[in-house]
Amino acid sequence: MFPQKASSDFRLFNTLTNRVEPLDLIEPGKLRMYACGPTVYSYAHIGNFRSFLTSDLIVRTAQAIGLKVNYVTNITDVGHLTDDDVADSQGEDRMARALRSKEGESFGNVWDLARHYANVLIADWDRLNLEEPTLRPRATEHIRQQILAVQSLISAGHAYETTQGVYFRVASFPDYGKLSGNRDAAELTELSRELVVDSAKEDPRDFALWKKDDKHLMQWFSPWGWGFPGWHIECSVMANEYLGEEIDLHAGGEDLIFPHHECEIAQAESLTGKQFARHWVHTRFLQVEGEKMSKSKGNFLTVQGLIESKEDGGKGVDPMALRLTLISGHYRKPYNFTMDTLRANTRHVQRLREIRDLLDNVSETEATDKTVEPLVLDDLSARMLDAMLDDLNTPEAIAAVLEGVKRVMAKRDTLGSDDVETAKDWLGHVESLLGIIGRPIAPDPADDASLAAAVETLLSERAVARASRDWARADQIRDELGAMGVEVMDTAEGVTWRRKIDS
Ligand code: AMP
Ligand code: ZN
Repeated sequence: MFPQKASSDFRLFNTLTNRVEPLDLIEPGKLRMYACGPTVYSYAHIGNFRSFLTSDLIVRTAQAIGLKVNYVTNITDVGHLTDDDVADSQGEDRMARALRSKEGESFGNVWDLARHYANVLIADWDRLNLEEPTLRPRATEHIRQQILAVQSLISAGHAYETTQGVYFRVASFPDYGKLSGNRDAAELTELSRELVVDSAKEDPRDFALWKKDDKHLMQWFSPWGWGFPGWHIECSVMANEYLGEEIDLHAGGEDLIFPHHECEIAQAESLTGKQFARHWVHTRFLQVEGEKMSKSKGNFLTVQGLIESKEDGGKGVDPMALRLTLISGHYRKPYNFTMDTLRANTRHVQRLREIRDLLDNVSETEATDKTVEPLVLDDLSARMLDAMLDDLNTPEAIAAVLEGVKRVMAKRDTLGSDDVETAKDWLGHVESLLGIIGRPIAPDPADDASLAAAVETLLSERAVARASRDWARADQIRDELGAMGVEVMDTAEGVTWRRKIDS
């Protein structure tokens, strides 16, 4: 057990107030948390995962102090435009563009493409040992709720319709700008992100809630005709649906502060009249070898690409070393990812696994009381937890782990049974708080409901492809499942599957 702590001992920087503040929960003992998930038009990159890992560490730290966490993180599988500056008819949908790209050639349509990348995202999530969220809702499965929310906003005078769409009336929400500090109308027009060029708009700051477009690849019928929802409305609606009108904590990468989170607040608070989220947590961006990641520079690193790379004599990058690297910098400082750091971290996680194996073997055979000086690690568990409670101070928490590795290694030949218990407890704390050791053997996939559901969907599609003798599609689905770490077995009794065992 970790030392007893109160929820107010957990302190996090709040973008809304610009201060590090104790967690102030709506309902004692329970954390209601929402984090913006990825847009699934391509493979998630390691920067995306840096942000997802911040949320993961919040969840783990909250659980360590006994909070019950309700953690919702969405998948954006619709209508995200390529250029935030012109989120209107001139902007291009990211999904549509991805479908036309070289990578997109293998997909039959945009739905297929979104499903593929969402499946790989869930597989990457699992490979990097992130806790499964309580719920992972998809934007396309909540269109009705989004339409209803837009209707309510119109009825309450917070939104209006033009020939091109429906817009949020920023002038109707005086608090607009309270998160980002972008309050000045002229400055906002200048910033002009996500500001739609529609001459019928009342105010250039107004942002789209619904886009009318009967040519769009993903469209739904609404009271305003065929079209698709604006980007921001999905999160307000899904947070509301699954966590209630008020939530404790909302997280995402720093680029989301404005306009996305500012717009989420405007929508949600106009709908409910209550404060949407108490704490706003934002992760600074990751760069690679000192530069912004970009496909053209060749430094665009995906989780999938690294794990399947030729690194480490062809074995690929160790997922736990990647995880350790991605959490090794403080989330509120920009992080420079380098392959050198990754290699150094590979040695650290190997050491931790060595200790795990050593403890397993010692306990089975010879854990007798040979010790004079007992092994002490409790102070290090406490130090690690205190560091995480202090605005997720991961560098300090990891330093405490490395100190523990040193102490155990120094005593490896003289471990008594008490020492083994002490070391096992400590290792359990390291894993539950930081998740950098990983599972010894892959767990039963049936335990992982999201993965199992995704696999079942793909297997039924594969059955249809095989029945219609579309062997190319059937093979492609097998490859997709392979990328998700799933092995398909065609047996006399039918098709079964299992998770590939990590080497
Ligand atoms: P997106 O798929 O672009 O919506 O991004 C998913 C999440 O990753 C969001 O929370 C982004 O803010 C975050 N993100 C995107 N790029 C980076 C980066 N380079 N470093 C850290 N977080 C990022
Ligand atoms: Zn969002």
